[in-house]
Amino acid sequence: MRRKKLLLVILMGMLCVGACAKGNVPAGNMGTVSQAPIATEAPDVTETPEPTVTPEPTSTPEPTATPEPTPLPEDTTAPELVLLGENSIKVVARREFTDPGFVATDDRDGDLTASVQVEGEVDVNWCGSYTLTYTVADAAGNTVTAERVVEVAQPETVYPEGKVIYLTFDDGPGKYTEDILGLLDKYGIKATFFVCGTRNTALYKKIHEAGHSIGAHCLTHDYDVVYENDEAYFADLNAILDLIYENTGVRTTMIRFPGGSSNKVSMICPGIMTRITEKVTNMGFQYYDWNVSAEDSVTKVTEEILNSMIVDTPKYKYPIVLQHPENRKFSFDAVEDFIVWGLENGYTFLSLTPESPTVHHRIKN
Ligand SMILES: [Zn+2]
Repeated sequence: MRRKKLLLVILMGMLCVGACAKGNVPAGNMGTVSQAPIATEAPDVTETPEPTVTPEPTSTPEPTATPEPTPLPEDTTAPELVLLGENSIKVVARREFTDPGFVATDDRDGDLTASVQVEGEVDVNWCGSYTLTYTVADAAGNTVTAERVVEVAQPETVYPEGKVIYLTFDDGPGKYTEDILGLLDKYGIKATFFVCGTRNTALYKKIHEAGHSIGAHCLTHDYDVVYENDEAYFADLNAILDLIYENTGVRTTMIRFPGGSSNKVSMICPGIMTRITEKVTNMGFQYYDWNVSAEDSVTKVTEEILNSMIVDTPKYKYPIVLQHPENRKFSFDAVEDFIVWGLENGYTFLSLTPESPTVHHRIKN
């Protein structure tokens, strides 16, 4: 009986241990410990580190790499600008002016000559003072400026030595032009032809090629047309200048006004001679009146024409003789005798140039 009770107690004890072991562990925690906490923490970990990791490597290395080479130089030195030629230049009006040039260099940027900016212009067809301003900048913005003054002026007069005669022929070319060229060649002397545009313009070339001077008289010798107004005068002047250029290749600057600068035939336009004589001078032309007249518009007697020239020439140091022999036989007949007289009396016959001493009449209109 006792053994049966003991066995029963042991069996009861074993059952109790098995039941108590199961009852101590919480039933709900067994499946959720490994699943629920991982699912909620994982998205937080992957989202936050990403934005903080990526901007750091791209922003930090760049600013540290570039500032290193720049702190070494700091350019505060302006380029050097050198003007070639003189800083003050005198140019004869209506002749070509070429800027002598410049050189610009910079200690950092090297040759900057091609970058030099030039402000201002020189008008060789108007006497006056012109300023040219040269400016250049280097890459750092340092600039340098230089100036040159160019004076456009009438040529300086060259006074010839000895006894001279400036023989001038107006209103040609004409019937006797080639004969006159023959006489000038025969005696080896030079003269000046103030030509018209309504004549045989092909003779301009022969005159020029023979070594004589050509000046502009007028396109048309019609006073009412030429002196109608200022614009009309310059239209006529430009036309005869172009005609001379087309036939000779010469851009002459020498002018003789129809009737001379003292004429009264221009009174149809009050004050025109005062204005245009001043203007042509500013434009760089030279105008020539005369101090000796052959008076071949007053008389047709060759003896009187010759006498007028012979009597008046010695009165002047630089006689400019006016004659119209190219279309007038009675005047042409006096040409050779006057040349002979001049040579026998020790004169040298010269052609006028822009540098020759001129004669200006007193202007009456
Ligand atoms: Zn004339």
